[in-house]
Amino acid sequence: MADHQAKRGPRGDINQDMILRAGDRLLRNRGSLEGVSLRAIATEVGVATNALYTYFPSLARIWHDLGDERLGMLHPEELLSSTCRHCAFLSLAQRAQEMMTVPGTLSLLRHQPILGTHSFRLSETILALTADACVNPRDAHDLLLAWFYGSMSLLEEGWTSATDEIRSHNELADFPLVAARSEPDLAAQLDAILRGIGIMHTCGVR
Ligand SMILES: [Zn+2]
Repeated sequence: MADHQAKRGPRGDINQDMILRAGDRLLRNRGSLEGVSLRAIATEVGVATNALYTYFPSLARIWHDLGDERLGMLHPEELLSSTCRHCAFLSLAQRAQEMMTVPGTLSLLRHQPILGTHSFRLSETILALTADACVNPRDAHDLLLAWFYGSMSLLEEGWTSATDEIRSHNELADFPLVAARSEPDLAAQLDAILRGIGIMHTCGVR
């Protein structure tokens, strides 16, 4: 009861989670935080814009907390008990790809650095899983995140699909290797990175 009351603001009819849920609904509907204003969130909650400032100092803070919430979908800590670290990373990448299918996720991650509990838990887990890599865990962490974030950005922004489309129109006669390139295989890319930094399968897969 005390907890419930502590979350109630001066208006007594809204709370932090209601605001986050409203922001999340708008974000999922639009697929991007472009054009979603604090005022739109206030309208979705059913209060005046000023009422939100009791709970969040800025719109950026709402997006930050929603971004950290998305990262919470990964549950990376579950992978610490995996017997094979290579397989643990394949599972983490799978979960991350599922997280990216929730509309607005890349938009949230791109908006600002996410420095919340779930973000730190993800980093903590990656550092633990790369403790025995042949590069410093910090560098393994940055390499893996850069690969994933970069890959997702390239896909979302259409770099890969746009070239693939041109390829089908036969406009790449001067670039035969681009024209004949294969479909992307993210699993193969991750497998190569993991092997490259010395994280081999210990589960029997070769
Ligand atoms: Zn394995």
